[in-house]
Amino acid sequence: MPLDEFTLIYRYFSALGRGEAVDLSVGDDCAILRLAAGERLATSVDTMVEGVHFPAGTFPEDIGFRAVSVAASDLAAMGARPIGMTLALTLPAADELWLHAFSQGLAAAVARYRLPLVGGDTTRGPLTITVQVLGALPVDRALLRGGAAPGDALYVSGCLGDAAAALAVLAGDWRPEPGHVEYLMDRFNRPVARIELGLALLGVASAAIDISDGLLADAGHIADASGVLLRVDPGLLPLSAALLSHPDPDQARRWALTGGDDYELLFCLPAGATAPPGCTRIGRVEPGSGVDCGLDIDIAGGYRHF
Ligand code: ADP
Ligand code: MG
Repeated sequence: MPLDEFTLIYRYFSALGRGEAVDLSVGDDCAILRLAAGERLATSVDTMVEGVHFPAGTFPEDIGFRAVSVAASDLAAMGARPIGMTLALTLPAADELWLHAFSQGLAAAVARYRLPLVGGDTTRGPLTITVQVLGALPVDRALLRGGAAPGDALYVSGCLGDAAAALAVLAGDWRPEPGHVEYLMDRFNRPVARIELGLALLGVASAAIDISDGLLADAGHIADASGVLLRVDPGLLPLSAALLSHPDPDQARRWALTGGDDYELLFCLPAGATAPPGCTRIGRVEPGSGVDCGLDIDIAGGYRHF
């Protein structure tokens, strides 16, 4: 029997809505969330279209987790504390197996980021997932792109280039050993938003961005917004064991410099500030403009839709 819209919402999406800041969740015309005194609202929205942002055939559980991570990554990049999210879901059909697995992925992300699902919209059409995230920031602080100054050190979290390498593996362009394949697929399908890192950097880092379009492209946004030059040393880029196993070190480095979808944080630290664990210094901020990595690489290597 086909599921009606309200049963579908009730069955799969209404149990994920409890949270500290949630006064009213799924079920009414709006959700109601609370900000503490001295806080303001940070919000961002991201859409994922099947065949554009993830390959057709991706496990629904991964689609659910990844959609939330991609959106939550913007909260991390601002140093915001997650308080809730909404989900606009366009589905070709009300497939219960698919919905069950998808909601499992959502539930994993809700728990991981403490980001309750407080509302949304459900429609029929080509598979498209839109997640809007809501976060809290102190009234007097935020991690912006525009605060980098000459003399700051440039850092990145985690490893770079894994998601781009995963896409090459999916395309059949590279066959690493099975353990590396598993690691790379996981990095593409289950990226982790660096929420705790963002919170730790608030009031410490002079500028920050999450790497969604590729290191060079996203570094360019900090450089533009701050009116500085970011000098990146390609020899310092943190590469995973999987990328280090690639026979061509130049290819691995290209993925790290231009590959998108890693959702690590790129940030600048003023002299004297210490980087949290798990972060690597990859360069420095200088007077000037743009990004210089000493190599002739197209800075717009990241994905562009238009
Ligand atoms: P309305 O017509 O008032 O916009 P809807 O019928 O679209 O209400 O949704 C009913 C309730 O279910 C609302 O609280 C809405 O936020 C919630 N909802 C709808 N779709 C989803 C979804 N995909 N995920 C979470 N909540 C949803
Ligand atoms: Mg609606």
